[in-house]
Formats: sequence, C-alpha cells, structure tokens
Amino acid sequence: MEANDNYQAIVIGGGLTGLVIGFYLKKAGINFRIIEKSNRPGGVIQTFKEEGFTYEAGPNTAVLSHPEVKELFEALGDACELEIADEEAKRRLIWKDGQWHALPSGLIEGVTTPLFSFSDKIKLLGEPFRKPGDNPHEPLSGMVKRRMGQSFLDYAVDPFILGIYAGDPDYLIPKYALPKLYNLEQNYGSFIGGAIKKRKEPKDEREQKATRDVFSVKGGLENLIHALVDAIGEENIILNAGDVTVNPSEDGYEVSYRNKQKEKIHLKSRQVVSATGSYEIPGILPFVSKELIHAINNLKYARVAEMSLGFKNWGGMELNAFGGLVPSKENRQILGALFLSSFLKNRAPEGGAMISVFTGGYRKPDMAKLTDEELTQIVEKEVKEMLKLDSFNPDILRIFRYEYAIPQYGAGSLERLEAVKKTQQQYPGLIIAGNLRDGIGMADRIKQGYEVAQEISKLA
Ligand SMILES: Cc1cc2nc3c(=O)[nH]c(=O)nc-3n(C[C@H](O)[C@H](O)[C@H](O)COP(=O)(O)OP(=O)(O)OC[C@H]3O[C@@H](n4cnc5c(N)ncnc54)[C@H](O)[C@@H]3O)c2cc1C
Repeated sequence: MEANDNYQAIVIGGGLTGLVIGFYLKKAGINFRIIEKSNRPGGVIQTFKEEGFTYEAGPNTAVLSHPEVKELFEALGDACELEIADEEAKRRLIWKDGQWHALPSGLIEGVTTPLFSFSDKIKLLGEPFRKPGDNPHEPLSGMVKRRMGQSFLDYAVDPFILGIYAGDPDYLIPKYALPKLYNLEQNYGSFIGGAIKKRKEPKDEREQKATRDVFSVKGGLENLIHALVDAIGEENIILNAGDVTVNPSEDGYEVSYRNKQKEKIHLKSRQVVSATGSYEIPGILPFVSKELIHAINNLKYARVAEMSLGFKNWGGMELNAFGGLVPSKENRQILGALFLSSFLKNRAPEGGAMISVFTGGYRKPDMAKLTDEELTQIVEKEVKEMLKLDSFNPDILRIFRYEYAIPQYGAGSLERLEAVKKTQQQYPGLIIAGNLRDGIGMADRIKQGYEVAQEISKLA
C-alpha cells in the first residue's frame, strides 16, 4: 500500500449525490477519493446530443426546492448554467375519458374542471376544517381520501405520484415520501390553510433561493456532472471499481476494490460514505449485522423504461405544457409524457419536438421488461392516439431502462431510517447516504450531498 493511500474520506458512488459530496469536500480542503463502479461519473444523469436534439437518459428536470441547489450553481460559477423552464412548464395535463384536461391552477378552473366530482369539490371547501390524522403510517391514498375525496386521489394525487415516484399512493407513506405535505396537515391542520399560511410567512434571503421553479441545465443535465467533475478533479475519482467493500480497521476503515485490470486495491480512510442505492449496501458493508442490513435494504424501487422520441417535424397536438400524466384509473399503457422542447431551450430543431415517454412504475413493473419492439409498438399506439399524431416516424427513438429507478418510501421507512442511525452510531466515521433516505429528487440529492460534506468536514 502506498503512503498516499490514506484518506480523510472515501465516497462510494459517483452519481449526483457522491459528486456533490466530493465537490464540497474539495472546497473544504479534505483529502478524499470517490470510488465509482461504472466507467463514467454521473449515475443515472446522462445527456445525448444528435441530429439537432438534446435529450436525457434519466432525469429530465428537477424542482428548485432547496436553497442548496441555487448555492451549488452559484459555487460552480460559469462552469454550468441553471436553466429555468419556460412558463409553459406550469401547465400540467391529466388524461381523463379520452382527452387531456389542464390541472386547475386557480379557483375558477378548480370549480369548472371535469377532473374532480361535484361532491368532492364541495368536500374540498371543508378541508381546512377537517381534523389532522393521527396515524404516521397512514398511506397517501388514505390521507387524500380523508381530506379531499376519491376523485382528487384519482385525478390529481395519483398522476402527481406517477410523475414523481412512478409510484402508488396505496404504498407510499406521506411522512417519508411527501414530508412537506405531511407537515402541512400536522403543523397547520390543513393542506390548503397550511399552504396559504406558509406562503405568507416571511422568508430569509437563503430560503428565498428555493423558488420551486422547474429547472434543468443549459445544454443538458450532464453539463452539471462535467462541471462537478472538473471542480473535483478527475484524479480524485476512481472509475471502473468492482467489488467495493468496506471493513473497519484501526483508525477508520479499509476500502477494497478491483480495478479495471482485476487487481485488488486497498485504501484506508478515516471516514467512509456510501452514496449508492440501498440494494448495494449489503455488498459494500459486509461487517454490519444481518438485522441492520436487512432493515436498510428493505426499500423497494420502481422499475421504469423511458423512451426518448425526437421528431424533426412535429405534426401532432400543440405541446404547450410540461407534459401529460395518465391516472392509473384510466388503464392506459404509459405513465405519462414530458414535452421537453416546449419548455426547455434547444432540445429539438425548429418546428420539431423532443418528448420523453415513461412506462412501468411501481404498479406495472413488467411493462419496463418488455422487448424494445413490444415497447415501441405500445408507445406508438398510445402516442398516436393521445398526442394526435397521424403517423409515428420519430427521427430519434431511444429506450433507457432502470431496474432501480425511483425508491419508494413506503412501509418499512421508519425501520430503515432507524437502522441507518444505529449503524452510524455503532461505526463512527461511517455515513450511509444516497437515495435510501432524505428524498428521491435531484434537489434532495444536492441538499444531502452538501450536508454530508459538512458532517465529514467537522470530523476530519
Ligand atoms: C428514469 C429516471 C427519471 C428521473 N426523473 C427525475 C426527475 O424528473 N426529477 C428529479 O428531481 N429526479 C429524477 N430522478 C431521480 C434523480 O435522477 C436521482 O435522485 C439522482 O440522480 C440520483 O443520484 P444518486 O447519486 O443518489 O444515485 P445514482 O445516480 O444512482 O448514482 C449512484 C452511483 O453509485 C454507483 N454505484 C452503485 N453501486 C456501487 C458500488 N457497489 N460501488 C461503487 N459505485 C457504485 C453507480 O454506478 C452510480 O454511478 C429520476 C431518476 C430516474 C432513474
């Protein structure tokens, strides 16, 4: 082992979470390495450019929901530019009875929309006066039915959950999956009243950075990855690392992996962070008790197939919205489609369109397992009918599959979070991060990355 194989911190996983940790460790002057299994950093974030189209293989956009997002872009300076989505992105379409309807954004639309039943619209008037629930394990579907009614569950919350989690409101637990919504009920007694009161509360300069705008990155999300890698320094990121395992050693941990040539490499570090999905944890941390590992690894993920479709000459319906979501109740084959070129710049040639169509999800995992031909046939049929396209001849058609796309914070979340805490207490200097806790979106990952780096810096 060489003398410089002794680090203050090692980060396992070079996706967005691991890279943000690395970025702030570098800024803090910490001696660290990121160890990444694949041959490129960035994890599920990957941008492609061809024939005048720019499209994403994984996430497409995120929400500026934490100040840490704005601060990261500020810290990166000119290296990459935040792109806030056009106004179009505020318009969301929901499929009902063979056509799209805009999700109401105001009172009058709320009263006239055919998405919700008359009785539920009346019921909604009483929402601020309904007493808060007292079961922290209540699934999202129960909470929404109790406060708002079945049609709001079917035509607002179910498609919203498909859009964010590719998930199922019967499985997700609001306390963990939608903590802001859960806290509105718990702290203010009502979603509506709480949201109004929260909006009126004064926000300090830092809080104002969380504008809730939809954002991407100019030229594609991977430009954020390039900017992070440049700032971290390629020499601090080890790629193609197989069989990564951690074991306690005197003065910290020994991290072992196989390099590209299959040689076993051993590094020492005072602190170690895992920034991978929960399914990787048993292999990475073999020394942790079976009981704790079982609880950490109890997390289910939604399987998703994403199809990127580029049309040089778009001849379908006007795509003047963020996209369209398809409620489970409508029994269609797709979860929804994002109309990327309608709200982000330079995603398709003039007069063309770039669309991402999603299939699979927690309720229909087998859809994402279909062959490319089967998936294409299904999407062709759905897109032609739903986006009013006479013939389906995309200039770009790419399919990206994810077995572990989005974690589902449902039953077992409390046990998982407690097991993470207990393990970290038993093994000081070990941090179990990644999307198994603290949120599933890119903004959540950036926030966690920043916080973990602070934690490491304090002990380094
Ligand atoms: C299809 C899809 C659509 C999405 N859409 C959105 C969206 O619209 N908005 C939004 O905000 N978020 C979205 N997300 C979620 C968002 O992409 C993630 O929150 C974020 O990118 C995850 O970053 P991460 O670093 O935590 O995980 P990952 O990107 O999964 O990175 C983990 C990294 O760890 C590496 N790794 C795994 N195991 C090991 C090991 N044993 N040793 C070493 N390295 C290992 C992996 O190779 C990978 O590089 C989407 C995700 C997917 C898959």
